[in-house]
Amino acid sequence: MIPATSPLAANGDTPDLPFYAASGDECMLFEQAWRNRLPVLLKGPTGCGKTRFVAHMAARLGRPLYTVACHDDLTAADLTGRHLLKGGETVWADGPLTRAMREGAILYLDEVVEARKDVTVVLHPVTDDRRTLTLERTGETLLAPPEFMLVVSYNPGYQNVLKSLKPSTRQRFVAMEFGYPDPDTEAAIVASETGLAPDRCVPLVRIANALRDLKGQDLDEGASTRLIVYAATLIKAGMKPAAAIDAALLQPLSDDPDVQAALARVADLAL
Ligand code: ADP
Repeated sequence: MIPATSPLAANGDTPDLPFYAASGDECMLFEQAWRNRLPVLLKGPTGCGKTRFVAHMAARLGRPLYTVACHDDLTAADLTGRHLLKGGETVWADGPLTRAMREGAILYLDEVVEARKDVTVVLHPVTDDRRTLTLERTGETLLAPPEFMLVVSYNPGYQNVLKSLKPSTRQRFVAMEFGYPDPDTEAAIVASETGLAPDRCVPLVRIANALRDLKGQDLDEGASTRLIVYAATLIKAGMKPAAAIDAALLQPLSDDPDVQAALARVADLAL
């Protein structure tokens, strides 16, 4: 276990700490997972603060952070590394997983289910108590230092049968569920992120919550905190609220004109 000698700085104590408003004891849970060398799985809808949380925690724990946005072409070699031709010579270049293991960093794989299946094969020995990575192409086997941590995220709302985490993979992680913050916290986050007066953020949060209630009926996904931040940014820059709400909170949610009209009515009523 990593000794509890590095006290966690409270939010704001460190000027370059990415701002994160906690909703519960997630910071403590993450810290304990890191100290006890447990990998973490963050579940939750898009734009609800998962990436910000990891950035915040990496800074609080004083670890470098490598983030990889997973996509359907991402292979194990993209994470581990490959030989590259440099000036006529073949040199080995570490991928982010290898680098993070060498440096005792935090590796964050965003939307991990998007990655190719061979990625889970390299992650398995990294996530169990072996904490090892074998680089077949160089013959090297790396043992993760205590400070190394693997964090993955996925959005259960997007998953289908073909793209979901297999039990054999998900049962290697401590899981933390993320949702949108409560309205007061969310308005405070939006105000802090954009500089818009808190009382002008409150109606935006109200609209977003009304739109979230449509999830599963007209929408696959409700308006995220990220979109509220966008709307507030536009308003702060001088745009009329109605135009900002349309561009940032309504248009990104659906392309269907009927659904758009319904969303506009919901937004009007929530104002
Ligand atoms: P995710 O990774 O879940 O898709 P992000 O972490 O990128 O979402 O969050 C999107 C934006 O929302 C952030 O850039 C930040 O502006 C804001 N945000 C969401 N939740 C929080 C929070 N709890 N504290 C601070 N900012 C937040």
